Amino acid sequence: MSKLPRLTVIGTGYLGATHAICMAVMGYEVLGVDVDASKIDRLNAGEVPFFEPGLPEMLAKALDSGRLRFTTSFAEAGEFGDVHFICVGTPQRKDSEAADMTYVDASVTALAGHLTRKALVVGKSTVPVGTAARLTELVRATAPAGDQVELAWNPEFLREGFAVEDTMKPDRLVFGVTSPWAEAQLRSAFQPVLAQGVPVKVTDLQTAELVKVAANSFLATKISYINAMAEVCEATGADVTDLAEALAYDDRIGGKFLRPGLGFGGGCLPKDIRAFAHRAEELGVGQAVGFLREIDGINRRRRARTVDLVLELAGGDVAGKRVAALGAAFKPNSDDIRDAPALDVAATLHRMGATVTVFDPAANDNARRAHPELRYGASALDAAMDADVVVLLTEWTEFREIDPEIMGQVVTSRKIIDGRHALIPASWRAAGWEYRALGRP
Ligand code: NAD
Repeated sequence: MSKLPRLTVIGTGYLGATHAICMAVMGYEVLGVDVDASKIDRLNAGEVPFFEPGLPEMLAKALDSGRLRFTTSFAEAGEFGDVHFICVGTPQRKDSEAADMTYVDASVTALAGHLTRKALVVGKSTVPVGTAARLTELVRATAPAGDQVELAWNPEFLREGFAVEDTMKPDRLVFGVTSPWAEAQLRSAFQPVLAQGVPVKVTDLQTAELVKVAANSFLATKISYINAMAEVCEATGADVTDLAEALAYDDRIGGKFLRPGLGFGGGCLPKDIRAFAHRAEELGVGQAVGFLREIDGINRRRRARTVDLVLELAGGDVAGKRVAALGAAFKPNSDDIRDAPALDVAATLHRMGATVTVFDPAANDNARRAHPELRYGASALDAAMDADVVVLLTEWTEFREIDPEIMGQVVTSRKIIDGRHALIPASWRAAGWEYRALGRP
């Protein structure tokens, strides 16, 4: 192996911490940087500040190797790194659908002030197309070695819950570059990944930026497509799970992301499609992706429909009723509650007067901080105690394995809504439950 570049990872949240840890395990010297000092302390102490299967073991390994450290100092980062990965958040702005670029701009500005020699700054965050070009100007103007610093874009596709495997062996790498030198730097920064035969697409900056939002838009569209079919099924008595299964046999369609249910959430898909639609409008091509607003609308209507189903099962009104909400995270194997459909439904039912008890195997603490008005159970059975209606909102494996007979003994009435098509209706009905699911008779 030729001499490996030294890497910094700026922003050590879900994406950055995972990237920093995995790169160190793969043999690189890595410095993680964040403005959140408590996060840095926890990471240096060997504690992953969020739930991600396999990552704590990888962190221990990386720290033991002596190749990984975390700091709050950008001066140290500038001194240390040959390749700097920007992994800070790009949430939705409070006042519009656009991406909030405050953190990207602040981190690049802080880093640039300490870039005194040739270096590559690589954006990994999901950003509006045109960001890399804008940051290039910013770095040129502010870095002491501005004319020797290049920008590149390497969008990230990892899935929470599978972050380690997606980082160690992604489906593909995308390198947006403006010079052969930048491409060579990226190739050496991903040497062990490329050595496994992972395909790499080398392209320009703007295409690389667009690949990420195009991919997320496609995935969101696929989910909302089948959920739109669920709406039609509901009006006709058809069964959307049979429909989806029949569609999935067609290779051109495929079954992945064709699962009907409560819809998508999280820190990526919802804000990414909104930011993309907004950016396209700025560029004068709003019409081209205007359908993404419809995709968003279909997705939000699934949450409203789930609330309606609870109302129906509760006899038209939830005031004074007890509802058990199984799940809070936006998906299983994660403690991430950003724009989580589950919590949205639970909070809406609470506002309607229900007493809602939530249980999530990993996200109870995060949920409690965001929604202290809800009650929290210590287990699914605990949450279901005396419930008038149980509603499954996140498809954790342990919920799939619930014994309907055992849960039936603790509830007030055997009524369940399967918001994720995770349960076997026949088993629940056989145990005397009224079972309802979105898009199914
Ligand atoms: P996150 O909120 O978990 O982490 C962001 C981190 O950046 C935080 O630790 C924060 O303290 C830090 N930060 C903020 N301002 C900073 C600054 N000026 N300097 C240094 N650090 C700073 O977010 P995330 O989920 O890791 O997402 C990061 C980016 O990656 C986003 O653009 C997101 O869309 C994209 N992305 C995320 C995922 C995912 O699954 N989470 C997947 C692909 C892409």
